[in-house]
Amino acid sequence: MMKNRISDGADVPYFFRDLMAMITDVTEDEWGTPKDPSTKLTKENTLRTYAKRGFSKKFAESIVYRLSPEMFVKSLNTRPKAVIALLADDYKSYDSSTNATNVSKKLADCFVDIIRTAAGLVPQSEFERQRLMQQAYDLKMRFGEYLRDEADNVCTFPGCGRLLSVAENGVVSYLFEVGLIDKSKEAKVDNLLAFCPYCHATYLFDSNKKRCKELAGIKKILVAHKQSMRLLDGMPLEKEIIGVITKIKNLKEKDLLDPSLDPKDIKEKLIPDDNLALYKTVKGYVDTYYVTLKEIIESADKRGEIDYDEVQDQMKAIYKRLKKANKSNVEIFNEISEKVHKVSLQEDIYCQIVVAYFIAKCEVFDAVSE
Ligand SMILES: [Zn+2]
Repeated sequence: MMKNRISDGADVPYFFRDLMAMITDVTEDEWGTPKDPSTKLTKENTLRTYAKRGFSKKFAESIVYRLSPEMFVKSLNTRPKAVIALLADDYKSYDSSTNATNVSKKLADCFVDIIRTAAGLVPQSEFERQRLMQQAYDLKMRFGEYLRDEADNVCTFPGCGRLLSVAENGVVSYLFEVGLIDKSKEAKVDNLLAFCPYCHATYLFDSNKKRCKELAGIKKILVAHKQSMRLLDGMPLEKEIIGVITKIKNLKEKDLLDPSLDPKDIKEKLIPDDNLALYKTVKGYVDTYYVTLKEIIESADKRGEIDYDEVQDQMKAIYKRLKKANKSNVEIFNEISEKVHKVSLQEDIYCQIVVAYFIAKCEVFDAVSE
C-alpha cells in the first residue's frame, strides 16, 4: 500500500531501505540479514523476499527494540497532503476509523506490529494478551510512581532513552508501563522496571535470557543509586557552595593559578588500576582547578560567604556514610556530585570539580594505605 503511494516508482530494494530508515536507526550493516558478503545481488534478493513474504525472524529481532514509530509518523507527515489522503482512503478498508489526521499513526502501529510478529514477540492468544494487559495495569497502579521515579523518568530499556512523562502546552502526560524483569519470578518491586510503552509491549513477550540478565544489571544500578540517595537524604550541605560553583563556571584559562604551586598527588587517594576513568577524571580536575579553587574558597570563607570548616565537615560526613554502606569509589564520587547538584542545581560537570577538590583535600576518600 505504501509502495503504491510514496515510492515514486523506486524499485523494491530501494523502497525497502527507505521504509526501514523511517522506522529504525539500525543501519543495514547491523540488520540480521543472511551473511553472504559475495554479491550485492544476494542482498537485493533477500530484501525482495522480505517485501513479498515477510521479514525473517532474525531480521526482525535485529531491529525490534530499536523502532521509532515517532520518526515514522513525522516522516510520513512531511508528504504531500494528497498522498496522505490517498493512504487514508486505502487504509480505510482495514480500519474504518482512519482519516488523514490519524493514518500516519495507524500505519506506524501496524508496521511495528508486523515487525514484532515477525520477531515472535506477540501474544499467543487474545486471552494471553488480555491477561498480560491486566497484569501490567495492576503493576502500574501499585508500583508505577515509585518505579518511574527510580528510573529518573527515562525508559530503563538499554538503548531506548525515551522520557516517561512529557509536558506539552502546559499539560503533563505520563507514558510508561511497568514490566517484570524475570517473568518466572514474583511481581515484587525488585523484579520490576519502568519502561516506555514501546519497549514494554515488546519485552512482554520476550523470553531471551541474555536480555533478562541485562535488565537485572540495570535494576541493580538503579537500586544502589536509590539507596545512596536515601542515605544522603537530610544530610546537610551548605547551599553557599552555589557561589563557589558560579565562580568555577566563569573561570577562563588565564584565571587559573599555576597548579605547580601546590602539587597534589591524587595517587595518594585513588589507585589508577582500581578505576582508571575515575582516577583520570579526578586527576584532570585537580591538576587544573585545585590551586585556583582553594583560593576562591578561602577568600569566600574570609568574606563570610561560606563557612568552609562546616562544608569540610559535611563533605567528610557524607563520604563516611557512603563508605560505611560499602559503596564503590565511583559510586561515592557520583553520589556526592549529585548531592552537590541537588543542593546547588548547577550542572553536573561543575559539581564534579567541587567533589574532586574535596578528594584532593582528603575530605573524600581516605589516603591509600601502603
Ligand atoms: Zn523504551
